[in-house]
Amino acid sequence: MKPFSDVVVVGGGPCGSFSALKLAKLGADVNVFEEHSEIGVPSHCAGHLSLKGLKLLRLYPLPAEIVENTFYGAVFHSPKGKKFSVRFSSPVTCVVNRVLFDKYIAGIAEDAGAHHLFNSRVTSLIIENGLVKGVVVRHNAKTEKRFSTKIVIDAEGISSRILRQTGLSTLNRRMIVNAVQAEVENVKDLETDIVEVFLGKGYAPGFYAWLIPKLDGRAKVGLATKTGKPKELLQRLMLKHPAASKKLRAAKICKISFHPITLGGPISKSYSNGFLAVGDVASQVKPSTGGGVIFGMTCADIAAKIVHEGLQRNDLSSQFLSAYQKRCNETLGFDVNVMLRMRKTLDAMSDDKIDDAIAFCTKLGLDKVIDKVEDIDFQGRSLLHILRNPKMFMALFYFLALHLSANP
Ligand SMILES: Cc1cc2nc3c(=O)[nH]c(=O)nc-3n(C[C@H](O)[C@H](O)[C@H](O)COP(=O)(O)OP(=O)(O)OC[C@H]3O[C@@H](n4cnc5c(N)ncnc54)[C@H](O)[C@@H]3O)c2cc1C
Repeated sequence: MKPFSDVVVVGGGPCGSFSALKLAKLGADVNVFEEHSEIGVPSHCAGHLSLKGLKLLRLYPLPAEIVENTFYGAVFHSPKGKKFSVRFSSPVTCVVNRVLFDKYIAGIAEDAGAHHLFNSRVTSLIIENGLVKGVVVRHNAKTEKRFSTKIVIDAEGISSRILRQTGLSTLNRRMIVNAVQAEVENVKDLETDIVEVFLGKGYAPGFYAWLIPKLDGRAKVGLATKTGKPKELLQRLMLKHPAASKKLRAAKICKISFHPITLGGPISKSYSNGFLAVGDVASQVKPSTGGGVIFGMTCADIAAKIVHEGLQRNDLSSQFLSAYQKRCNETLGFDVNVMLRMRKTLDAMSDDKIDDAIAFCTKLGLDKVIDKVEDIDFQGRSLLHILRNPKMFMALFYFLALHLSANP
């Protein structure tokens, strides 16, 4: 392995490998350092992705073995068992096996010429006169080597250990929720073409719980929470939630994992001299749902284009790389702001108000309005679209009243 490459990527998750793929295709020499011995392992993600997002990234259709199921919509359950369903005429989302998905992205990056190095943990950045010049890598938890590069793309995920060394502000720790993701079998009355969302402070305070059916008869169940122990809340959901317990009371947990999710919206500055951050480390995650794969990979694509341009011009200064932040903001900024407001409103609602709101949505027939909108990633734009409908105006008025009464 050469001790020098045009680009060093820290982390072989979807965002790191996708930026490596895009840069390798543009002719750059890219090394990806991954601390684990295998891509995608351990896995902690539900893997629920929008088909439109995958299409925009030119990853659709995915190889069949990666896709565990596809869905036509979602059912939202209130804490007291009321429900609101949205169903589209064709599939809008899918659930992927995240290990296979990550391996697939890394594989096509390798085919394009990028190199992944395993058991290779980046322990620090080499910074000279304020410019990132390379990384120190520990192999097999033993030997350390220095690698020089023109730019480091940090895709280390939520831990932010490397980002911290640049002096850039890391993601907002107050906006982190702790999540649990389980795979269960023996679920009763599983509807296989729809995902289910369970709301309520008693089950998932500050977030929600989910049930994602797979075609093999198993399902992914999880939740995230601001307070309390995720595993205890999951057990409570499975045994006590009026809707979830009907399906999950007798279910058996086969696999379980724990990991945080960042909901604060992208960090304000994700670049410095010779350095860019992509994915979870830059908090490029939807504040409404916690989905970070499509948003992070969208930014990884932007990062690759800007880095390629910088390599051509021989300018990877902070000033030039500021174009990355600008383009990410143009692409995601509006939708993130809308989603942050949605998250704030939901967080402020009591269980009774969530109950009322879900009943109200069903009564108004909002499912018929929302099913015309198929953009699940760019939710700000979707909201603008549905606002053209008079029913939605009424609903917005209602939600605003709820929001104001919760935040006098
Ligand atoms: C329970 C749960 C459910 C989720 N469900 C969904 C979902 O349904 N849909 C969705 O879109 N998103 C979901 N997410 C979010 C999603 O998992 C992340 O947004 C996504 O994985 C971010 O990708 P990434 O490449 O930025 O980081 P990661 O996937 O975390 O990858 C980072 C990689 O970097 C490696 N690494 C870290 N530090 C170093 C280092 N110093 N040196 C070398 N390697 C290093 C790690 O080993 C890892 O492989 C979920 C998250 C959780 C916790």
